[in-house]
This record gives sequence, C-alpha cells and structure tokens, in this order.
Amino acid sequence: MSLTKKILIALVLGVIVGIIFTFVPESAFSPVNQYVLTPVGKIFVNLIMMLVVPIVFVSIVLGTAGLGEPAKLGKIGVQTISFFLATTAIALCISLALAYVIKPGTEGVFDVSIADFEANEAPPIVETLVNIIPTNPIASMTAGDMLQVIAFAIFVGIALAYLGEKTKGIYRLFEQANEILMLLVNMIMKFAPYGAFALIASAIGGAGLDAIGSMGAYMGTVILGLFVHAGITYSLIIWFLGRANPLHFYKGFFPAMSVAFSTSSSNATLPISMKTAQENLGVSKNISSFVLPLGATINMDGTAIMQATAAVFISQVYAIPLEFSDIIIIILTATLASIGTAGVPGVGLIMLAMVLNQVGLPVEGIALIIGIDRILDMLRTAVNITGDAACAYIISENEKRKLKKAG
Ligand code: ASP
Repeated sequence: MSLTKKILIALVLGVIVGIIFTFVPESAFSPVNQYVLTPVGKIFVNLIMMLVVPIVFVSIVLGTAGLGEPAKLGKIGVQTISFFLATTAIALCISLALAYVIKPGTEGVFDVSIADFEANEAPPIVETLVNIIPTNPIASMTAGDMLQVIAFAIFVGIALAYLGEKTKGIYRLFEQANEILMLLVNMIMKFAPYGAFALIASAIGGAGLDAIGSMGAYMGTVILGLFVHAGITYSLIIWFLGRANPLHFYKGFFPAMSVAFSTSSSNATLPISMKTAQENLGVSKNISSFVLPLGATINMDGTAIMQATAAVFISQVYAIPLEFSDIIIIILTATLASIGTAGVPGVGLIMLAMVLNQVGLPVEGIALIIGIDRILDMLRTAVNITGDAACAYIISENEKRKLKKAG
C-alpha cells in the first residue's frame, strides 16, 4: 500500500478514535493518552523537528548558491513575498465576508463574565525586522529562530555562488549533507501514519466535543473560510498563474498536508513539505528550499482566516460594532499578526491579541475560543503550508516553461 493511502487511513482512524474518546470517561482516556498516544505522537514530532534546522540551513545555502546571481534570488524573493501578501489579503477578505454573513457571535449564549486572558505585548515591528539579521548564527540555530537561520543561510549561499570554483569542496559537502537529510526524511515518513494517528486521536479526544456547544457557529465559519480559500483560491491561482492542474497539486502535496494537520506546526512539517514538493510536484530544489522555509515562517493564510473571523466574532459577542476603518485595520494587523506568528501550535491565537488591541476589542474574548482552538489549529496549519507550496509550485511551473522556451 502506498504511503499516501496509509496516511489517509491513519487520518480517518485518528478522527474516529478521537471522537470515540470524547464519549468515554476521562479516567479511561487519560492513561491511553498518557502512555500510548502522547509518547507515539511525541516521538514522531521529535523525529521531524530534529531535522528542521539542519534542513533549512543546508537547503537554503544550496538553493541560494544554485540560483547563481543575487539578481535571480531577488526576483524570486519579490515574486514570493508578493504572492504571500496577496493570498493573505484574499484569505482575510473571504473570512471577513463569511463572518459578516454567518454572524457566529450573535446567536447562542456566551459567558463573557468568566472570560479572562492575559495578553503578552507583541514586539514592535521595527525590532522584528532588525532582528532578522542574527548577531550569533549558532545561537539562532540552537534557539530554532527560523528567520535568522534563513538570513544567515542566504548570506552563506550568496558567498558560495560568488566564490564558485574556489569553494567547490564545501558546496559538495552541503550537497552530501542534503542527501543524508533527505534520506532521513524518507525513513521518518514511514513512521508518519502511526505518528499522525496518535496525534490526531489525542488532540480530538482531549479537546472534548462538549466544549464546542455555542462555539459551533464560530468553528463552522472558520472551517468554511479555510475550505473556500484552500479549495477555490489556490485552485484558481494554480490554474491561472501557474497554468497547472490543481488536482495534481492537491494529490501530490497531500502527505505534507496531513502531517501539518496532525502536528499543528508549519515548522515541524517543513522537512516533509520540502521533500513532498520536490518529489511529488517536481518543484526544483532551488525554489522549494527558498520558498517553503520562508513561507512556513511568514506566510500563514489559515491563521489569518482564524484571526479575522475571531475578531468579528468577538465584536459580535460583546456587541461592539466595527466601523469600516476598523475592518481595514483588521486586514492590516491580521496580515502582520499572521506574519509574526511562529509556525508552532497555538501561537496564532496569542497573536490575535495584537489584532484585537488595534481595534479596541476586549482581549479577554480570546478565552472564549481557546477551548476549541486546538482543532482549528490543525486545519489552519494544513492551509498555511498549502499556501506556501502553491506559491513554490506556481513559480516552479513558470520557470520550467521559461527554460523550455529558451531552448
Ligand atoms: N499552528 C500554526 C502553524 O504552525 C500557527 C498558528 O496559527 O497557531 O502554522
């Protein structure tokens, strides 16, 4: 049986077993979760996390060096960032429209009196930008600071391209390191069905479906937004901008989507999304190694959809009307908040505080949605990385066509 089929079965079984667990008493679920599901899931997550920093570093060095002149890197960089911003803006418009039509916060009973949430201050944007350049790249690697690792890798890659023949030995060393890492990804993927099953069953079983209650309309609105964006927006742009077949894209990228769904972490999924994009979608190493790590760090359409829907939901629950100018502010701040969200579980919800603050909505409102966010996190993470892959796929298809034309 193919790996994709096995993962699909694991996904479905994980959801079914997770739902069954919500009906059994806590005393029965807890030991299974503690001694079986959590350790199996954690082993899988640790195995892939182990490869994230080395893969990002090695592949971006190779990718940048392989692109040759910095001008080409600049061109792909501009295309990538424009794509990321444009798709995030579309995601936000879809989710705002749905939230206004469905009005998830106007029906049902919401106990705002017990809502309590302490928001952390978000770092100022200038500081975030300046900090992209690391003062100590080794410290960035040990801390897993992706943007800093990416920046350092780009510098090293540019130097390698510039020095050419002189540094052929080191270039070859990076190529061999890449082979080792990719082989390890292949080995770890064999464990993916078991890891994914354990993670999903544990997350759904632990979330407790009774927590959903009046939050059903909010969840439905977010989920609909995610499906519309992932299913329609990406299909259309792959079709029109990439002149490629969206079905081929979804089918090929499915293993990575399912790993994102089960781990709720774009960063952890990175090794798998890079391998899947290269092998199943034919995206060149140069493009995938640059676009995907950057996307996993700054491009989060799914997170933006949740944040915009949540902002409107909270305004409806607290009956605080939003002006048109507030909507524009939500679009701008949710774009920044999704860029600033780290690709690890749950951070999107913390960054939501920034959006709410900007439009004067009560941050305590986050307490209302925190209970059911675990499930939404799984879905939005899958959308987050699908957006990155769509961008890599489109750029790669266009590059291939250009090369063919050139002869
Ligand atoms: N879990 C998401 C991710 O890793 C981020 C978030 O929205 O919390 O992509």
